Formats: sequence, structure tokens, C-alpha cells
Amino acid sequence: MKKYDAIVVGAGISGLLTALVLSKSDGGKDVLVIEKENHIGGVCRSYNVDGYTVDTGPHIITRLKDGPLKKLMIKYLDTPPVFKPHGKYYVKINGSTKEFPWTVADWIQFNVLPLRDRISLIRALFSALGTSMVAPKKITKVSVYDHIKNYDLSDSTLNFVNTIAHFLTGASMHEVSVFRIFGWSDTKNMQKKVSSLVNFLFREGAGDQAYPMGGIKSIVDSIVRSFPEGRVDIKKSFEVKKILIEGDSIKGVSDGKNEYYSDTVIYSGFVSELPKMLGDDIPAEYANKLNNVTNILSLTVWLGLKKKYFKNVGSEILVGDSNGAGAWAIPITNYDQSLAPPGRQLVGFGFMIDDADIESVKKRAMEFICRHWPSIENDIEMVHYQVLVPEKSVNRINQVIPSHRTPVRGLYLVGTDTSKASMGITRASYSVVECLKTLKEDGKIQSDVPM
Ligand SMILES: Cc1cc2nc3c(=O)[nH]c(=O)nc-3n(C[C@H](O)[C@H](O)[C@H](O)COP(=O)(O)OP(=O)(O)OC[C@H]3O[C@@H](n4cnc5c(N)ncnc54)[C@H](O)[C@@H]3O)c2cc1C
Repeated sequence: MKKYDAIVVGAGISGLLTALVLSKSDGGKDVLVIEKENHIGGVCRSYNVDGYTVDTGPHIITRLKDGPLKKLMIKYLDTPPVFKPHGKYYVKINGSTKEFPWTVADWIQFNVLPLRDRISLIRALFSALGTSMVAPKKITKVSVYDHIKNYDLSDSTLNFVNTIAHFLTGASMHEVSVFRIFGWSDTKNMQKKVSSLVNFLFREGAGDQAYPMGGIKSIVDSIVRSFPEGRVDIKKSFEVKKILIEGDSIKGVSDGKNEYYSDTVIYSGFVSELPKMLGDDIPAEYANKLNNVTNILSLTVWLGLKKKYFKNVGSEILVGDSNGAGAWAIPITNYDQSLAPPGRQLVGFGFMIDDADIESVKKRAMEFICRHWPSIENDIEMVHYQVLVPEKSVNRINQVIPSHRTPVRGLYLVGTDTSKASMGITRASYSVVECLKTLKEDGKIQSDVPM
């Protein structure tokens, strides 16, 4: 059997981007991408439901000016996807819809929350910065809720903060640290911390966010089109069940019947599933670490609407009540009308799942939507639900992030549960760049990779 230069397990965006870079490095490596489903893309996929093209969850791509995806696209994609700017974020709260208050000036005008609370939260921001100067490690362990709980905030303000915490990190204000909310990734770099706080307070955010025309699958299509001819094989419907090891080095992968061999394997599935594929071949301490990486579930409700309910280009953050985290709504046909039949609107609503009973979560989600748009029920032509994992590792306090190198020589990890930075596809892209850097350090690739 052919021995590949590298095997990539998983054909989501992390695996495919890694395969693309390898196939264009050092004059072209031969790469095998193995995917357990009969389709590629992972949770970066779009598909047809009754004439509507839905994505796997509502998506807006961030950091498209100078972030890791942008750098990878410039260097490796032959024809990058076309993106349309996201537009504005709106907040739906207490019966009003307001533009998201990015700056201090906007925040002071954000009169849907009590003025007293707005001033208290500004004080809380500065106090977080102060703590981060004197006790940088401590701030990584303080939850947003613990940081603000003594400011005597109203329920509306707490619900707003909780919704934003979920929106930015996937975790509630009780689970996520203040450190994480600001996007700080390094406890020591004071300059970065101050500049992100200044951005937070004075600059309109999200100017570099966008939606890909044709749906999010267009990013994956564009990667696959850029594979150099004959360099990348994709094997679908093959679930890796065992990682094959010889001595302390990787040998290949197996589904229990067939085997593929390489001395470089890059795994992009859930790291928490790796220990059972490695069996006793890894130290118990390492297996425990991986087993402790936790993820979250989300529910997406796609509605095909006979009428245009959302007029603005942009998306809406729906603030939850004390029972829930709220939701995020994106009318994707406002970016690309071809995703729905003519005259129809396609909207994705994202909810976090807080209950094991999915049917009751679906029911509550529909009630929540109908509470915000009372007449919408009469205009629904298509309903499609998706239960998906939006982040393979939630940025909760004490979350473990394994490194790209593993105890098995030649076995590497990539994907959203292997990077601390950012969220979603940007986080996946950071993980790819970091993993490639590790491969280069280990002499697995010679070519330069974007850093
Ligand atoms: C509801 C929702 C909303 C989101 N919103 C946004 C957003 O607004 N902006 C944003 O940037 N991102 C968003 N994301 C996140 C983004 O889509 C993901 O972070 C990213 O696509 C993850 O890519 P990945 O390659 O790391 O993982 P995955 O897409 O999970 O890919 C892993 C692949 O590996 C395969 N695999 C796993 N195990 C095996 C095995 N043993 N053998 C073979 N194959 C295997 C899987 O089938 C899968 O195809 C959202 C996701 C969801 C679900």
C-alpha cells in the first residue's frame, strides 16, 4: 500500500487547510485526508433543504483583514471565496432593537439598560485591567459573574452580560473568565491588553467580519479546488478507530479492517476521542488530560420565510431572560439571495443547549422566536433544526488546551480544541498555523508557513 508523506484525519476546515498547506509545501507533499462521514466540511458545510441552502449553524467569519484565515487564503488559495461585509450587530432587548454599543460613547447612549449599571460596568472594566496588572494569573480564574456580582446590577443588565458572554465564548458568564472576554491570550503582554481594552472602549468593532457568498461551504470548496493535481487523496466514509504505533512513533491509522501508513499523522477530530484510539500506548496522565476537554452543544433553527422580516444587513443578538442565554439571528439571504427561492428570506437562529431534552429545547426556541416576532409563525415555509457542536473545546475557566505535539512521535493535533485564540473558523485557522509551526520545528516541513 502507498505510504503517504502525511495523513490528515478529518476533512473539516482545520484538516483541509492543513492538507492544502502540506500539499503545496516542499515542492508538494502527498497527503491522504480521511473522513468518517460521506461528505467533507465538518461543521463548515452547507446543504439543501426544500430549495433553501442552510449552513451547519449560523456563521459570520471574523478577522478577515489580517487574521490567520486571511493569511492562509492569500498564500494558498487559487481562487478565494467572495465575502460580503457582515454589517452591523443589533441587540434586541426589553422590546427594543438597538445597534450594539461598541464604544464608550455608544454605551452611555445604550438607554435600554439603567444608566447606573452602564457606569458600573465601565468601572468593572477598569478594575479588571487593574487586577490583570497586579495579579495577571488571578484574572484568568475569575469568572465574569464573580467580577461583577458586587456591583448590584439589574436583572436586565445581568441577562445582557450573560448573552454576550455566550455569544463571544460559547460559555456562560459563570464559566468564562474576564480575561477571555477581552480576547487576551497572554497573561504577561500588558501592551496587548491595554490596546484590546482601548479597542473595546473606543473603536467600532466587527469591521473585518463577513459572510461568504454561496454559504460557508464555499470556503471548503475553494480549499479543495486549490489542491495541486494528484497531491491530495480524500477517503470518505472511513472512521479512524485505531492509531497505529511502532515503538514510540506513529505508523498509520486503521478503521479495524483497513490500514493507511505514514510517519506523519495530523488528527483534527475531537481530542477527547483520541485516548480510545491510542489505547495503552500513551501515558495515563496525557489520556486524562485529553478526556477532560469538554465541548458544548448548540441548536440552530433555520426558518424559510415567505416575507422579509429582517431588513438590515447584519445580525441580531437576542438577549435572553434569567432562564436562558438568548440567541443570535442571521438572515443569510440578505448577503446572498440565491440561498433561498426568489422572494423568500432564510434566517438562522443559534441557541445554546442547556437541557438534555432536545425536543423541549426546540419547543422553547420556537416560542422564543415567536415572542420576538409575534406574526412570524404565519410566514414560515421551511423549518430545519440542527444539533451541533460549535466549539470542540469551550473557553471555560481551567479548560485544558493540549499542545499540537503529542507523546507519540509523528502524531500531531489540529482543530478548535488545540488553540486558545479566538473562536470558530478563526480559531481553527490559528490552530492550523500553530500546528504547521510545530511541524516545521520538527523538520517535517521546510517551506515557510505564515506566522
Ligand atoms: C452552530 C454553529 C455556529 C457557528 N458559528 C460560527 C461563526 O459564526 N463563526 C465562525 O468562525 N465559526 C463558527 N462556528 C464554528 C466553526 O464552524 C468550527 O469551529 C469549525 O468549522 C471547526 O472546524 P474543525 O475542522 O476544527 O472541526 P470539524 O468541523 O468538527 O471537523 C472535524 C472533522 O473530522 C471528522 N472526524 C472526526 N473524527 C474522525 C475519525 N475518527 N475518523 C475520520 N474522521 C473523523 C469529522 O467528521 C469532521 O468532518 C460555528 C459552528 C456551529 C456548529
